[in-house]
Amino acid sequence: MTSMEKKLKQFPEMGLDYCEDLAACNPSLHDLTHFYLYPGMEFQSQLKWWPDSGLRPTLHEGIDFCYYRTSSGKELTFSPEIRIPVMASGKIMAICQDYLGHTVFLDHLYETTERFLSIYAHIVPQHNLNVGQPIEKGEVIGKVADTSGRKNRMPGHLHLSIMKVDRQVSEEMLTWDLICNSERSRLIDPLEVIIAQKITMRKHNHWKEEVMKSLS
Ligand SMILES: [Zn+2]
Repeated sequence: MTSMEKKLKQFPEMGLDYCEDLAACNPSLHDLTHFYLYPGMEFQSQLKWWPDSGLRPTLHEGIDFCYYRTSSGKELTFSPEIRIPVMASGKIMAICQDYLGHTVFLDHLYETTERFLSIYAHIVPQHNLNVGQPIEKGEVIGKVADTSGRKNRMPGHLHLSIMKVDRQVSEEMLTWDLICNSERSRLIDPLEVIIAQKITMRKHNHWKEEVMKSLS
């Protein structure tokens, strides 16, 4: 069985390419060939991929989408116009603030012992997005938060987490505290769920190196 077949079997309703969904609702991503993950953008990394020294306070809770390449060979970063779709249908379970924008928790309503959530962070939710609202696969829930003007020069990006939680966990408990430290949640590498043919790891973050050099 190929890794893609395994994913389709394990997550039948997620048998999709989230990269395609992102491209489908963003004209600027139509000729995307792949996303780049720099060291620090991948699941459980301790590294910071933005221009800052030191390590992350907690291991990275998901993956970050920001850098991509187009068919003409251009390398670009997300703009605040980038629209964020959901990876599978479900119901909005919670919306909370994070340090760059807002975080939306989507419950996929699987009939499993634990809830299966996808989490979209550092975004500006659509003004009419409400807790309890049903959402269809590919539907847009918001845009990437604008981070221009931030001291740490962190570019606007989408943070995607996949998490299983106990059914006793209430809406109010769905915050970054739960994502980061709770024993009641179990994070899954998003690359184990989504079809990752268009996601490429890169060894060196030349952009960060250049900014760090210009700051020193
Ligand atoms: Zn992240």
